Amino acid sequence: MEIVRTRFAPSPTGFMHVGNVRSALFPWLLARQNNGKFILRIEDTDQARLVEGATSLIIDTLNWLGIDWDEGIIKGGEYGPYIQTERREIYLKWAQKLIDKGLAYADPYTSEEVEAFREQSKAAKKAFLYRDYRPENPPIWDGTKPLRFKVTEIKRYNWHDPVMGDLSAGPEALDDFILVKADGLPTYNFAHIVDDAEMKITHVIRGLEYIPSIPKYLSLYDALELERPVLACLPHILAPDGNKKLGKRDGAKSVQEYRDDGILPEAMLNFLASMGWNDGTEQEIFSREELITKFSLDRVQRSGARFDEKRLLWMNGQWIRKLSLDDLFERVKDFWPETAKQVNDDYKKQILALVQDRLKTLSELPILTSYFFEEPKPKQEMISDNKQLGKLTNEDVIKLLNSAKDVLLDCNYNAKSIQEKLNTLLETTGQKPGVLFSLIRIAVSWAPFSPALNETLSVIGRDKVQARLQLAIKTIK
Ligand code: GLU
Repeated sequence: MEIVRTRFAPSPTGFMHVGNVRSALFPWLLARQNNGKFILRIEDTDQARLVEGATSLIIDTLNWLGIDWDEGIIKGGEYGPYIQTERREIYLKWAQKLIDKGLAYADPYTSEEVEAFREQSKAAKKAFLYRDYRPENPPIWDGTKPLRFKVTEIKRYNWHDPVMGDLSAGPEALDDFILVKADGLPTYNFAHIVDDAEMKITHVIRGLEYIPSIPKYLSLYDALELERPVLACLPHILAPDGNKKLGKRDGAKSVQEYRDDGILPEAMLNFLASMGWNDGTEQEIFSREELITKFSLDRVQRSGARFDEKRLLWMNGQWIRKLSLDDLFERVKDFWPETAKQVNDDYKKQILALVQDRLKTLSELPILTSYFFEEPKPKQEMISDNKQLGKLTNEDVIKLLNSAKDVLLDCNYNAKSIQEKLNTLLETTGQKPGVLFSLIRIAVSWAPFSPALNETLSVIGRDKVQARLQLAIKTIK
């Protein structure tokens, strides 16, 4: 049986956004599922668009996500080099094959001349096709002019895309496109066909934006007598609102930024896979291994997949909960608030255990925990703006805080005893937990959320709890 060989072929033109990485994930899953090979090739022939450092970003991002490659940059392999600008000779060899067959020619026209052709087509109310103006006696190609493909089989092409279904396009989609530019480098249209063939790629998986060009690629496969690989296109990723493609202005960050914000690679992988794919059940959380087993191109949806950052955060929360405390502790190393640096690991672990279920990203750690490490500043508006607490008079608030201070003074400082005291306090004050416990919670943490009150108090400790309640009373007075 044929070995499945897939590839990710990014252009190093900027940061890696979610769409780029999904184009790496799906072919990777297919390769891993079939014990095949996954190839990483860098497509850098469009020199004007290159961005310094972009290749390292690609490598870092893939490494972080655990999307490993068997052949490609850094690793090497049988069909290298894997950077297109290092493969010039190879493209020239293939270009020569076309020249020899009379299927490629030097483009003699200036851009003004081409513009004039365009105008002519427009005046004749015809779509502009370069082949309508193909020169009769083109000069010999010396590398200083673009080399164009001469498409001779003008016909309808049909092909099957495992995602998009049976597709077809007529002669209007075929034209004499540029193979090699005047700078000597091949176009994407030519280079990727040569590379995919040389690298024995069996499945080409890429974005939907390539569909209109596929008939051109098919005509080139035929001209070069190459067998076509499976050609699959992935649905667009749509902006959170509206039906347009996700763009830079829609709030989607680079994958690196999500990492820096404390998104786990497991969650990002899960999220990327869910953008356009599901296994037909209600299951939403998939591990890497499950994705490898369950992924299939047939179950990739045709319609656009919405980018929903809230869903990513939800998934991340789910993945954070699944981690063992030690694993989570390791991963939050760089996320603790400054003031936690002096504190010993056991205390930090105790706190981490308290907030594990509440974290949606690791970067929330400071806001959720800083009051365990430093004295929080009272923000009285947290009481006055609170729906329930805002209804109490200052006297009521002070009275309640004083009662809390009293019962918590004479108490064993463990979660269980504290809970008993708090329950008694509910009875004696006649307050609801939503009022009394919220008030105490705010008065000792001045944070938007905290773990269970009894546990929070026991970790903060008696002296600090007393002092903070006292300060709250003073602030309100
Ligand atoms: N270099 C192309 C891009 O980054 C790759 C398209 C493909 O996968 O063939 O869009």
